[in-house]
Amino acid sequence: MNLEATLEALRKNGFDARSVKTEAEARELFFSEILPAIAPRTVSRGDSATLERSLIPEELASRADIEFIDPFAGGGWDETLETSRRGLLSDLFLAGCNAVTEKGQLVNLDMVGNRVAGITFGPRRVVLLAGASKIARDRESAMERIRSETAPWNARRNGDLRTPCQKTGVCSDCSSPDRICNAWSILEKCWPRGRITVILIENC
Ligand code: SF4
Repeated sequence: MNLEATLEALRKNGFDARSVKTEAEARELFFSEILPAIAPRTVSRGDSATLERSLIPEELASRADIEFIDPFAGGGWDETLETSRRGLLSDLFLAGCNAVTEKGQLVNLDMVGNRVAGITFGPRRVVLLAGASKIARDRESAMERIRSETAPWNARRNGDLRTPCQKTGVCSDCSSPDRICNAWSILEKCWPRGRITVILIENC
């Protein structure tokens, strides 16, 4: 894992790339610098354990000057989908990132597709939080790790899902109705330049 080379590659590809030591520092950077610079009226988000741990969504929900369109604020599945649809037109979209390659590419795999959609197009700006452990050598190793490690872990994080990897912890390329591995997204470069900010967190 080469943090500095990855940051440099991301910048070369048009991403606004930052690094911090901890999730608390990511939150500080977001609220002190990034959010005031973007000044969004509406903010939405994709599902992300890293984002949850940063407590950024919690603070956004308490802000009176921002409409936080939060698909995960409670409610049923239909409401989550509808709120996710609305979030795709927000000024700012927040999410995690399944893998960042040393070549400066972003690799993600979704169940529904709302997260990869928001990262790719729709929201005017995007901020992604990712632990430095998400750095992968190249696209192939990123995809391999997401399928073999990240996806089974994510399936276990969502206790309502019934997939084989829930029990085994191993991907069997299932055909379960609850399969969470449906929509891949690979961003080679950022267009327009600077639309997406990637915050890499060293100790995460
Ligand atoms: S394809 Fe199925 S078994 Fe494999 S990680 Fe995804 S949900 Fe789990």
